[in-house]
Amino acid sequence: MTQTHPKVELHLHLEGAAPPAFIRGLAAEKKMDISGIFDERGNYSYTDFWQFLKVYEAATETLKIPEDYHRLTLAVLEESAASGVIYSETFLSPDFCGGRDVGAWREYLHAIREAADLAEKRDGIILRGIVTAIRHFGPEKSKETALCAAETAGDWLVGFGLAGDEKMGKPKDFAWSFDAAREAGLRLTAHAGEWGGPESVRDAICDLGIERVGHGVRAIEDLALVDEIAEKGIVLEVCPGSNIALGLYPGWRTHPIHRLRERGVKVTVSTDDPPFFHTTMAREYQMLAEAFDWDDGVFEEIAKTSLAAAFCDEATREAVAKRLSE
Ligand SMILES: [Zn+2]
Repeated sequence: MTQTHPKVELHLHLEGAAPPAFIRGLAAEKKMDISGIFDERGNYSYTDFWQFLKVYEAATETLKIPEDYHRLTLAVLEESAASGVIYSETFLSPDFCGGRDVGAWREYLHAIREAADLAEKRDGIILRGIVTAIRHFGPEKSKETALCAAETAGDWLVGFGLAGDEKMGKPKDFAWSFDAAREAGLRLTAHAGEWGGPESVRDAICDLGIERVGHGVRAIEDLALVDEIAEKGIVLEVCPGSNIALGLYPGWRTHPIHRLRERGVKVTVSTDDPPFFHTTMAREYQMLAEAFDWDDGVFEEIAKTSLAAAFCDEATREAVAKRLSE
């Protein structure tokens, strides 16, 4: 069930989803020595959050040109499709793709879209993009990122978000960028309530006008906020395996996704940076089924909630809905 069940994923960083074998191959081609970031079985290896960031950075250093992103997209979607994902949204950053230059960004985006089209034909998986500003690069750079997003907004580039170090600055510092993205027709999400507490979730919702929250799980520390999120119908992009791998919660049974769902919050399930957390969508489903005794009905409901919260156009949503009900 967990492998073949059709899945919808809303929170995936393209670089963070890079299979280690793909990165190793790319590094070898470019004569870069990054052997230190892998364990003896060839998986990404780190012991704490700070080392994780270093390993992540070293792996993504190998991605330099649009062609690398084309190949990356194909490799990532192959993995997602193997896990039963039929629709996916991925975070893309003009900061890493062309240094926030609109012309260069268009070339990267073109390469990624071409690969997504190929993967759709090959594996039947549909991909859409969400541009994310990087919080720790600051509000000024996020404005350039928002302009890149606004210039390329359309049927494929459908959303705008905020990722990066949650402890840097406040959501309201990025309000200008979110307003510009909204005016360009982009739908909005932001990372909050992962490293920041419930107040970071409240601020992101109030100051940025987002309809989805990346993680948002620490809202559980403030039940009034949980009720507000449920009432407003705000969707949480929950990534349990990521939270557990980074030590936010000691194990699956203590993860708040079940309590959030029981209290009426629209929760979805995603992998964030799957190979870095040694997970896949199939594994997330498996672990949730074991931890909370979730049956097929729960996972079907989660897939429907995810699809309803997807940023794609209605024709795409209908096509995916058909496949969910097959
Ligand atoms: Zn994330």
